[in-house]
Amino acid sequence: MADKRDYYEVLGLGKSASGDEIKKAYRQLARKYHPDVNKEADAETKFKEVKEAYDVLSDDGQRARYDQYGHVDPNQGMGGAGGFSGNGDFGGFGDIFDMFFGGGGGGRRDPNAPQRGNDLQYSMTIEFKEAVFGKETEITIPRTESCDTCVGTGAKPGTKPETCSVCHGSGQQEVVQNTPFGRMVNRRACSNCGGAGKVIKEKCGTCHGAGKVKKQRKINVRIPAGVDDGAQIRLSGEGEGGLRGGPAGDLYIVIRVKAHDFFERENDDIYCEVPLTFVQAALGDEIEIPTLTEKVKLKIPAGTQTGTYFRLKGKGVPKLRGYGQGDQHVKVTIVTPTKLTDAQKDLLREFGGIGGEAPSESSEHHESIFDKMKKAFRGE
Ligand SMILES: [Zn+2]
Ligand SMILES: [Zn+2]
Repeated sequence: MADKRDYYEVLGLGKSASGDEIKKAYRQLARKYHPDVNKEADAETKFKEVKEAYDVLSDDGQRARYDQYGHVDPNQGMGGAGGFSGNGDFGGFGDIFDMFFGGGGGGRRDPNAPQRGNDLQYSMTIEFKEAVFGKETEITIPRTESCDTCVGTGAKPGTKPETCSVCHGSGQQEVVQNTPFGRMVNRRACSNCGGAGKVIKEKCGTCHGAGKVKKQRKINVRIPAGVDDGAQIRLSGEGEGGLRGGPAGDLYIVIRVKAHDFFERENDDIYCEVPLTFVQAALGDEIEIPTLTEKVKLKIPAGTQTGTYFRLKGKGVPKLRGYGQGDQHVKVTIVTPTKLTDAQKDLLREFGGIGGEAPSESSEHHESIFDKMKKAFRGE
């Protein structure tokens, strides 16, 4: 614990990292070290470390305290580890975390108590636009379900498992030993029923007494419009079947979104880059821009500089929570022509001006980059 790593270092970020950067780094690392994906021995430790760093740094209050006190926060009572209960805004992530690492241990429970089925995780890769507009699809997952034939009891229909006559249903046997120090009582799983507390005389022909069967189950999944890479969808009760009447676990679908050639996404906003010719930029023009849904016209004012952003309001991604949509940001890049005819070259030379004076009204207001460069050539 003494050599606990700095939270910023864990996420590979500087102290001034923005909330978005923290979230992004966390998602990347969480995916990398997720024990479902990463089978290295220290993956779980790293995953926990990343999660803890994220919990603290994503919460403004906790982050401020951490920046001030580091891992030893006098207000925390017991320094650092655990304790933090920051809730990220991914629904269900806490649950899945608990499912892999939490719980565990605990004493022997009643062998006949209903038992909740395991949670399952399924990773699904979807197209960029499917994430934007949502999608309904069907997936097939292998999962263990309660046996229909015997309704999960494991016994042949018409018969019932009988209470074990050796342990009387407790599933445990006491073994008494006389030792030089006195009598020792040990408990161990009942040898007659294997700890189940019940004995099946006639086994169910379908599940051979297990009470559960493996099935390839088709499940309908509705992916909501606006999901982003790394999002998780929880399908309650679609995990593995419970035992002895226990509820089924949940199914978590982790969404991976493919990159798009033209559009880039940042939360609900879309970014794209379009080329402009030098003439369009200088004289102004109206150009067509592809958006997620349609083509729209964009007016380029005369004298537009390369790298300028234009905003197409409401042309972004539908918000997953709440109403409305993000925007589309169009960055224009002026492309220098590489193939010119002789006539074009002559015109450009003429434009370049024998005396070096560009015919620009903008020079009255501010120095253009060309002017600045010319000045630099003259040593100013
Ligand atoms: Zn028994
Ligand atoms: Zn059965």
